[in-house]
Amino acid sequence: ILEKRELIRPKTLKKKPVGNSIEFKDVHFGYSKKEVLHGINLTIKEGSVNALVGPSGSGKSTIAKLIASFWDPDKGRITYGGVDIKDIPLADYNKNIAYVSQDNYLFDETVMENIRMGNPDALDEDVINAAKACGCHDFIMKLEKGYDTIAGGAGGHLSGGERQRISIARAMLKNAPIVILDEATAYTDPENEALVQRSVAKLITGKTLIVIAHRLSTISLADCIFVVNKGNIEAFGSQDELLKKSPLYKQMWEAHITS
Ligand code: ADP
Ligand code: MG
Repeated sequence: ILEKRELIRPKTLKKKPVGNSIEFKDVHFGYSKKEVLHGINLTIKEGSVNALVGPSGSGKSTIAKLIASFWDPDKGRITYGGVDIKDIPLADYNKNIAYVSQDNYLFDETVMENIRMGNPDALDEDVINAAKACGCHDFIMKLEKGYDTIAGGAGGHLSGGERQRISIARAMLKNAPIVILDEATAYTDPENEALVQRSVAKLITGKTLIVIAHRLSTISLADCIFVVNKGNIEAFGSQDELLKKSPLYKQMWEAHITS
């Protein structure tokens, strides 16, 4: 009997693999002296769809930027696959993250080169396909005539919606396992909305997804919704759970909007 037990034990004692989940453990963060995140705990499971919702200024974009490793927490830990992201070389960690920022950072380069930043090894054809998929029509037309538009910097004269579609095309070309969309359709005009939604759908298949969305209707299907309020996670869970336990979520849901 003892022998049998010994055979079984190593198996049952085997540690469950953490997978490549992202975990925040008591994360505090502030800009200059003002603390804006006051001890965030959250787990984002590999391959899951997650949403961050909450009032404007509650800290959603700051959480997204910490996941994208823009800054280190002032206190606490952020781990990826069980490893503190501070201990992962930035270039290696960055390969895992496609981040569409609310600010749609573009560089003082052509649209083509801005999209190519998602994958410097991409062929022109792949860059153009990503652009087409995201509705950068103008850019494609101009490119076919033999010139390209400067996207960012002083030479950039693109609208918010155009900049956003370029950011999405860049993220698509990167093909990273974790996709962060911070208000990714906030500036999209109705004409391009369906197109952007389709390209976003392509971008996110099979990925770990973190969305920050205005319209609650688009995130109600998330595996896990985190309600962010004044730098804290007030509640998290599925839509059904939150409607029962989070008055703030219920209130936002009834108004059907968050910002
Ligand atoms: P949300 O995305 O939920 O609207 P943010 O994460 O952008 O909220 O902001 C959280 C808080 O941090 C706000 O009080 C905001 O004013 C402040 N904040 C955001 N970015 C900066 C920055 N670069 N410098 C100083 N304060 C900032
Ligand atoms: Mg924000």
